[in-house]
Amino acid sequence: MTAHKGRVLIAEDEMVNIKVLVATLDEYEIVIAKTGEQAISKALSSQPPDLILLDINMPGMDGYEVCRILKKNLESMDIPIIFITVQASVEDETKGLEMGAVDYISKPFSPAIVRARVANHLELKQQRDLLHQLNMTDPLTKIANRRRLDEYLTTSFYQAQRTDSELCLLMIDIDNFKALNDLAGHDYGDDCLRQVAQSVAASLQRSTELAARFGGEEFCVILPATEIIEGRKVAEKIRANIDALQLNHPAADINNVTVSIGCSAMNVETDDPNALFKLADALLYQAKQKGRNCIV
Ligand code: GH3
Ligand code: MG
Ligand code: MG
Ligand code: MG
Repeated sequence: MTAHKGRVLIAEDEMVNIKVLVATLDEYEIVIAKTGEQAISKALSSQPPDLILLDINMPGMDGYEVCRILKKNLESMDIPIIFITVQASVEDETKGLEMGAVDYISKPFSPAIVRARVANHLELKQQRDLLHQLNMTDPLTKIANRRRLDEYLTTSFYQAQRTDSELCLLMIDIDNFKALNDLAGHDYGDDCLRQVAQSVAASLQRSTELAARFGGEEFCVILPATEIIEGRKVAEKIRANIDALQLNHPAADINNVTVSIGCSAMNVETDDPNALFKLADALLYQAKQKGRNCIV
């Protein structure tokens, strides 16, 4: 959760309007853009707004064009936009809403109505974000789930193809997990799954890298822009970190919980994301054959 109630971007070229809006929305963090170009760069910054109040008439790029660009961009397409403008004909309002704006307020505006509409749309946005988050998270381990994994792998795969860059996929499987469950119980098994998942996630460094639960006691890691040699190093770090947790394994002949990892990278034969999964899985099988707690 962010500490503030919401960050609102006001894209408006007239100082009087900016002043009234800032005073009206004093409970939010406000970011101001005086041109369409500024509005786009602030919407796409590392601290994006939760909502945008967008004037239509601005010098240079107008509000419609700003809306069109932001709704096309994956990073900004979910930020609600409210047009706030003197152009209030039925055609204008329809055009704005059809471009993906959530609301349309005409000038001169009533501060109370602006405040109420902004509050409503921010609440809806927060609910959507929460739903999206839940939809993409594995409830047991709290890391990304299979849905998020599939989505992110598809995006990363085709981006790597387009930009001719490397991509590694790790398939990680806990060793002898069935025996652990059978001997120490399902609750202890669940606890191990949580700790292994957190360790996998904590072993990653770049924000573009994703750790996800594939299913059961299997996890995947996606490493965009990573060559196989580097991918193998990440896999080795994950394996060593889990070994170092020294999670007790109840079988008499096994000291602690370990994982085996199949480390795959895109090649001429992996012409779709699923082929990369299959390759990683085949390599994981080899790691199991080699005696577990290792990487192939
Ligand atoms: P290997 O070293 O070859 O991977 O052997 P394994 O015993 O780990 O492999 P197997 O696939 O036979 O066993 C996986 C076990 O994982 C079986 C199932 O009971 C357990 N499992 C799957 N999902 C969960 C879960 O959510 N919680 C718990 N506690 N156990 C789970
Ligand atoms: Mg398995
Ligand atoms: Mg297995
Ligand atoms: Mg296993």
